[in-house]
Amino acid sequence: MADSECIFCKIAAGEIRAVKVLEDDACVAFMDIAPLAEGHVLVTPKTHAVTLDELTADQAEAMLKHLPALTRAVRAATGCEGVNILQNNGRVAHQVVMHVHFHIIPRNSGDKFHFNWPAGKYPPARAEQLAEAIRNAL
Ligand code: AMP
Ligand code: ZN
Repeated sequence: MADSECIFCKIAAGEIRAVKVLEDDACVAFMDIAPLAEGHVLVTPKTHAVTLDELTADQAEAMLKHLPALTRAVRAATGCEGVNILQNNGRVAHQVVMHVHFHIIPRNSGDKFHFNWPAGKYPPARAEQLAEAIRNAL
């Protein structure tokens, strides 16, 4: 189901232009219009969903099965040293386009893309407690 206001649904439907690198019945991958690095590609399902957790396993698989080949192709085309696969869910997580997508971002030594990665530490038994809550929610 498409959302008539959604820019990535319009790209999937061919209603607005994008520089595509791969397309099939379920998925479209295209060049990010404001790349964090040359070769930055977005991978989207054609079905409208806002966040990853709204997808069925089959919908996710139809998109994610292309990630290894797309990543190899981005590496080959750009000669980058590494790649980040990034996927933002919700405004608090820096999602701007509200149609689920994966970023394939080429990385090179000295590039300008940085993470703040504030690694924490669990108090005793907290990881086990959270793991149980997560298992129970699956
Ligand atoms: P996010 O912050 O994860 O929602 O990222 C949205 C991404 O979509 C950004 O990197 C934008 O540059 C990109 N973007 C927005 N509009 C377009 C468009 N029309 N064609 C290609 N990329 C787009
Ligand atoms: Zn959409």
